[in-house]
Amino acid sequence: MKVTEIRGHHVGFAPSPAIGNARTMIRRRDFLLLEIVTDTGKRGWGEVFSSPDAAAALIRTRYAPLLLGQPPRRYRALWEHMAANLGYDRRGPAMMAISAIDMALCDLAAQDLGISVAAMLGGGLRERVFAYGSGPFIAETDAPCAHYAAEVERCLAQGYRAMKPRAGVGPRADGNMLASMRRQVGPDVGLMVDINQAYSVRAAIASARHMEASELLWIEEPVEPEDIPGYAAVAAAISTAVAGGEALASAAAFRDVLVAGAMSILQPDLTVCGGYTGFMRIAALAAAFDLPIMPHVFGTIVNHQAALQVAALLPARRGGGPASYPYVEVDISSNPLLALQGDVRPNADGTLDIPDLPGTGLDLDAERLEPWRRESWVCR
Ligand SMILES: [Mg+2]
Repeated sequence: MKVTEIRGHHVGFAPSPAIGNARTMIRRRDFLLLEIVTDTGKRGWGEVFSSPDAAAALIRTRYAPLLLGQPPRRYRALWEHMAANLGYDRRGPAMMAISAIDMALCDLAAQDLGISVAAMLGGGLRERVFAYGSGPFIAETDAPCAHYAAEVERCLAQGYRAMKPRAGVGPRADGNMLASMRRQVGPDVGLMVDINQAYSVRAAIASARHMEASELLWIEEPVEPEDIPGYAAVAAAISTAVAGGEALASAAAFRDVLVAGAMSILQPDLTVCGGYTGFMRIAALAAAFDLPIMPHVFGTIVNHQAALQVAALLPARRGGGPASYPYVEVDISSNPLLALQGDVRPNADGTLDIPDLPGTGLDLDAERLEPWRRESWVCR
């Protein structure tokens, strides 16, 4: 099996109404879906969710020539070759480009072996993984969280037993919102919050104290991702676990966080951290510090399917929630690119089945992307 074509599909949509977090209102969601095609006709998929246009430029100009004609089963050697060609900055869009390529190459390498990615990477530890609903999101109104109760009711009816609303409107408002959500869901549903990098250290600590009685499993991205001392100060001052890492693009970045004692739950995103190859390095680091990993996912079905594969591989840890960690994040907003193979819904026990099929078990035809396509290109 050899790579014969690299196809980029730029897809996106405008959430209506816009969905918000404490930092920004999301009016447009754009992705690069990377399809690597081989001489056997098999295709592998990768994704970039954060900087799709910049990553695409790097793939087309710099990496495609390195990949064409290569066997996907050399994915580790190709990862090293691409990383060595990055030059100075091994984070940001350049690592996102490598991430998408590694995702697609591993998908193909596993298909070539006739096994799942999890099986190729050593074999899964579980057949199902606990899912949590990522949302509800802040609305662009005078009462930004007034719709939360109805959305939470909808999620409970869909089978979710853990939810992560967006917070960060203000410390006291956060406390009031979580207290009313805890009353609504009862003691046995897992609740966590995402601050999306918005608070100062002082405001994050104040917010955490207002929310403490609601018994959250974690507080996510309380401050800016580069502010490791700030993270450490928040972590030292509050009793709730601090989570983060979706914006970190290397094992070295996670090493700095861990050495500083700045997070107690790590959330690498396959489309940011170097694909499966980068993710497994971070997983080894997390194991050395005995900290749980929750794969971060906020994109299309491609990243969702890939996250299920790595979730199969992570050791179980009791974090105080309704099930042992890891949990997999599921975007509960209206997201047609997550629903490309039908709506993602948990089982009655709040879990998702992990496919044990060649690759990631994703059978995606590029024609399905047509309604959301903005642009496409091919390197051959
Ligand atoms: Mg987040």
